[in-house]
Amino acid sequence: MPAMTIGGSAVATSESFDVIDPSTGQFLASAPSCRPAQLDEAMRAAANALRGWQSDDDHRRSALLKLGEVIMGAADELTDLLMSETGKPRGVAAAEPTICDVWLRYYADLSIPRDVLQDDERALIEVAYRPLGVVAAITPWNFPLGLAMWKIAPALRAGNTMVLKPSPFTPLATLRLGELANEVLPPGVLNVVTGGDDLGAAMTAHPTPRKVTFTGSVSAGKSVAIAAAADLKRVTLELGGNDAAIVFDDVDVERVAATLVGLAFFNTGQACALPKRIYAQEGVYNDLVDACAAIAESINVGPPSDASAQMGPLSTRPQFARVKELVADAAAHGLRTVAGGSPIDRPGYFFQPTILAEARDGVRIVDEEQFGPALPILRFSDLDDAIERANNTTFGLCGSAWSADVDRAAAAAERLECGTTFVNTHAALQFDVQFGGSKWSGTGLENGLPGLLSFTEQQVVHRARQ
Ligand code: NAD
Repeated sequence: MPAMTIGGSAVATSESFDVIDPSTGQFLASAPSCRPAQLDEAMRAAANALRGWQSDDDHRRSALLKLGEVIMGAADELTDLLMSETGKPRGVAAAEPTICDVWLRYYADLSIPRDVLQDDERALIEVAYRPLGVVAAITPWNFPLGLAMWKIAPALRAGNTMVLKPSPFTPLATLRLGELANEVLPPGVLNVVTGGDDLGAAMTAHPTPRKVTFTGSVSAGKSVAIAAAADLKRVTLELGGNDAAIVFDDVDVERVAATLVGLAFFNTGQACALPKRIYAQEGVYNDLVDACAAIAESINVGPPSDASAQMGPLSTRPQFARVKELVADAAAHGLRTVAGGSPIDRPGYFFQPTILAEARDGVRIVDEEQFGPALPILRFSDLDDAIERANNTTFGLCGSAWSADVDRAAAAAERLECGTTFVNTHAALQFDVQFGGSKWSGTGLENGLPGLLSFTEQQVVHRARQ
């Protein structure tokens, strides 16, 4: 069984939980169940490592660069682990170690600012950005390493230490990441513990962390916010999305359909910031539906062992059950299944790439986050009406508008209530551009300079000169 990394040591446990291979539905591996005393030990180790880690900015930069090198040195092994625990095709899995390296290099290079507010005969007043302390980081199963690194790189760069918990569905690559980090980081700087949702709750309630950074569902995010409030821990919550894409009637249908379907079914539709509801204008509606259906039908679905597979299974049994349920509910409510619509008859959690036409607001697959390969397409004629319907949701992660007239699309895109709005693209996320949700899609920002600053607290330094 793989070990947890606590205070620079490989730590085994007497208790374990099963990890399932989503390509087969069968047992893949055991992972350690962190006991309460071991969580205390991890928190203590992180707290003890703070002073040394904060003392040398150059060392932090070079350690992050070395971590990137070690991860890239183990990229094949990490990719294999990701493929087996998530079911992703190799190309999608292989992007994650690369993302880790890119994020580490970006934050290693980024300087922590110090702002001068006043510099005159009366005073020098500056703002320094201080690390918060120990950070509890909790991650989901869809991009286990990439989303963990969105937290690790800026948090460590700013001088914090961390206790990291991956999803119980996908602990394996993150446990290995903990071992690799242990080769180059001082003991206690990055601790990796594994267990169920209760372990996440115990981390959030634990008195040691000064910040919780969480990526996952809206419901768990709300529990985290409530628990963190008890002792005013800082929180960053990156939660679910139900992104609308507004498609005008002047688009190149084939091209936009290919792009939208490719994005919507990226990682089997299991990403927060993907087009999840298409609002297509009347004049282009039927052609867009037909084009999307043809593309969906052509997608080759298979396990990661099949090098020709473009899309893998759903990554977890509950998510597979949820997609089945939402697609069945859509059919029961009169949506027209123009591609796919069913699980694939083989072991594992495979579902056909599915396009649902004549979709309307008020049906679950439109109103809820499906997080799977089933895309509803709605009709609109009046833009104001489309914008109002797109915004009539508690989600607010991303959105997009598509038109041959870029300004027309941009004007529509900016009316969408969301953290990032795209024009003729979607889900184009970058290490140097902040990312976060509005409404129930979250609070706080990751990536870019704001992502670094979110792991700091401002301290005003006022030097009197009179
Ligand atoms: P989840 O909320 O079930 O679990 C996420 C993590 O939280 C896991 O590690 C889990 O063990 C832990 N957890 C669960 N309950 C907890 C609690 N009460 N306290 C503390 N920790 C708890 O989410 P998931 O199913 O793993 O991930 C899918 C969700 O994540 C989707 O809604 C998706 O949109 C969202 N997501 C958001 C982003 C973003 O950046 N906005 C990125 C990826 C995924």
